[in-house]
Amino acid sequence: MEIVTLPGQAAKGKVWLIGAGPGDVDLLTVKAYRVLQNADAVLYDALVSEEILALIPKHAEKIAVGKRAGKHSAAQSEINQLLVTKAFTRKNVVRLKGGDPFIFGRGGEELETIVAAGIDFEVVPGITAASGTAAYAGIPLTHRDYAQGVSFITGHCKLESRPMDWQAYANPNNTLVVYMGILNAEIIKQGLLDAGRSAATPVAIVSKATTSAQQTFIGSLQNMDELANNPELVMPALMVIGEVVELAGSLNWFTPNNTNDSQLNNPELAAQLK
Ligand code: SAH
Repeated sequence: MEIVTLPGQAAKGKVWLIGAGPGDVDLLTVKAYRVLQNADAVLYDALVSEEILALIPKHAEKIAVGKRAGKHSAAQSEINQLLVTKAFTRKNVVRLKGGDPFIFGRGGEELETIVAAGIDFEVVPGITAASGTAAYAGIPLTHRDYAQGVSFITGHCKLESRPMDWQAYANPNNTLVVYMGILNAEIIKQGLLDAGRSAATPVAIVSKATTSAQQTFIGSLQNMDELANNPELVMPALMVIGEVVELAGSLNWFTPNNTNDSQLNNPELAAQLK
């Protein structure tokens, strides 16, 4: 779809691409908060929490453009056009995204449109789901004894058209964080096992990380698909795969409001972690 601008006119507004963090309102950056206070229009994703939306000033126009697997949402080209149109009619246009806009957030694609339309912009980073999850579930993503590196990968359905580099991800000294992977847990498990990652590798699936509804399901690569298929698992959820998950037993400080002691999902591993 071609982007429509006003020929001969420059947009007077500015677009602020802002990361809202993983959920906990206190994880919004001070800069994001300040910019939000001056917003005239806010285009936000489904992942942005209610508490954060409540910070948008009353006079600002709020537009939900959220994407949720399986549910209707605006097409990316429509969102791009809307951003451009708003920049011609409003002063401060905020594009608010869950986590960090440059980590699986299509922030780059949206900015390319903004640049092509000659619109002024700034980017405000946010705490990505992996960092929020790591902190609130007590899983350091790197640790000198367990993991010398970490990879953030998407487990999205494009797996068949763009093959995953399972060999690289199977490195036992590397933590793997899988975004959008729950529906493909079985494919991911098999890819890693085939590439030689041990079936005993600890796995955590953390849902609604950093919110009062956070749940942590701990198991191993062997039963990762079972963890992912647990009917109690609420989206969004992230998979953390690697030895560092063992640290959750001792570093887990956050007590969400739910009573489900989800580590008991795998009694054997839970016992090891205690
Ligand atoms: N830009 C976002 C990621 C968007 S992709 C970021 O930086 O975090 C959406 C995926 O992020 C979800 O499918 C899920 O895997 C993950 N995610 C986002 N928020 C989450 C949360 N609070 N808890 C667990 N996973 C989350």
